Amino acid sequence: MTSDLVVRGGTVVDGAGTRRADVLVRAGRVVAVESGIAVAGADVVDAGGGYVIPGGIDVHTHFALPVGAVTSADDFESGTRAAACGGTTCVVDFAGAGREPWEEALATWHDRARGRAVVDYGFHLTVTELPVEPEAAARRFAAFAEQGVTSVKLYLAYPDRLMVDDDTLGRALAASRRTGVRVCVHAEDGATVETLVGEAVAAGRTGPDAIPSVRPAAVEAEAIRRAAGLAGAADASLYVVHLSSAAGLEAVRTARAAGTDIHAETCPHYLDLEQSHLEAGEQDFVCAPPLRGALDRAALWGAVASGDVEVVATDHCPFTAADRRRGTGGTGWTDFTQIPGGLSGVETRLSLVYQGVLSGQLSLERWVNATSGAPARLFGLAGVKGAVLPGLDADLVVFDPGATRTLDASRLHSRSDRSPYEGRVVTGWPVVTLSRGEVVAVNGEPADARPGRGRFVRRSPILR
Ligand code: MN
Repeated sequence: MTSDLVVRGGTVVDGAGTRRADVLVRAGRVVAVESGIAVAGADVVDAGGGYVIPGGIDVHTHFALPVGAVTSADDFESGTRAAACGGTTCVVDFAGAGREPWEEALATWHDRARGRAVVDYGFHLTVTELPVEPEAAARRFAAFAEQGVTSVKLYLAYPDRLMVDDDTLGRALAASRRTGVRVCVHAEDGATVETLVGEAVAAGRTGPDAIPSVRPAAVEAEAIRRAAGLAGAADASLYVVHLSSAAGLEAVRTARAAGTDIHAETCPHYLDLEQSHLEAGEQDFVCAPPLRGALDRAALWGAVASGDVEVVATDHCPFTAADRRRGTGGTGWTDFTQIPGGLSGVETRLSLVYQGVLSGQLSLERWVNATSGAPARLFGLAGVKGAVLPGLDADLVVFDPGATRTLDASRLHSRSDRSPYEGRVVTGWPVVTLSRGEVVAVNGEPADARPGRGRFVRRSPILR
């Protein structure tokens, strides 16, 4: 029997607003949020006037993802340990590496996470095919929900490995409406990208500097328009992962204004980094969609502030510098299509988005909502995580708004040896991370972060 714990002397920030309050934790759950809590014999975490926020929920990670001959640098142990150090207490990882049967993908990902995860985790499934018969497609989605998996991703890009056609996406949206399994899309028009890639490579433009022109913002906007049209026709909800551009954002806003139930996520790297890294030929900055320009960044910050973009997740998928160089073929890349793509982010997300609060671009509440409240609400975790409320898991972060930290790989806990934010100093960092009432990180370092203590979280169907 663990003793009670009181988080004392902080300012609680969540969807209910900002207030001075103590938080009483018992048996892994929050049992009271009010001022002046005193319980004899309770452990005390002194919040020291900092913010007490719901643990971050990162709904876009790729741990131990095989990409050709190489694998993303973090597995469930190092990835969730890094998450805890950065104030994230729940991740939702994408199960499935290609076109394997969904049962196999789910079993594989459970095997990878079980006994290793430090904080709680859920899974999305990647859908590359669906039964043609609508009833059978809905039964497939209902089977996902029975497994506690209430979201899927479909790719409109990567024709050879992952891409679905419009009929498949339409059936998925219809099945989503009937089952409450959320449909997420990777919105880049794969056919157009293939054409542009072919032209670039044929012209000898084989380095990372070609990437912005072969995956332009227009292909993101076009894919969003197409998917939103299908969602509207199916009267279904659509979630756009990793929105990267002002043009894509405009497509989201236009669809929403036309009555489509559309949600969007962006990532810290689209808020903070620019395509100049690619133009300089830096392979360590390859991801898809690619980094964009200053105007895109500004538009995305504005949309996170307004709530037009509800979620900031990471698409955490780092590679070591050596693996980038090896390429997906394992013997060195000869053109940019063979560079394993993805950036590190799971540990730095909370603080990087907080920089927007510091610069006056977004409110404290929007910061917390984008990093925990909205992900919980949109992904079937409402009533479990994502707020500081009695009855919810005591996934809590004490965040010191004055702490500074250097975002070098040597100071972070990813197994990747390159941080995309190398040299950046941020202000504001978690000082204590609690997962179901247990301290898992202190001052950005692991503390009793026991592999295997993290649990699989069964998520509920998502009601509209
Ligand atoms: Mn991804």
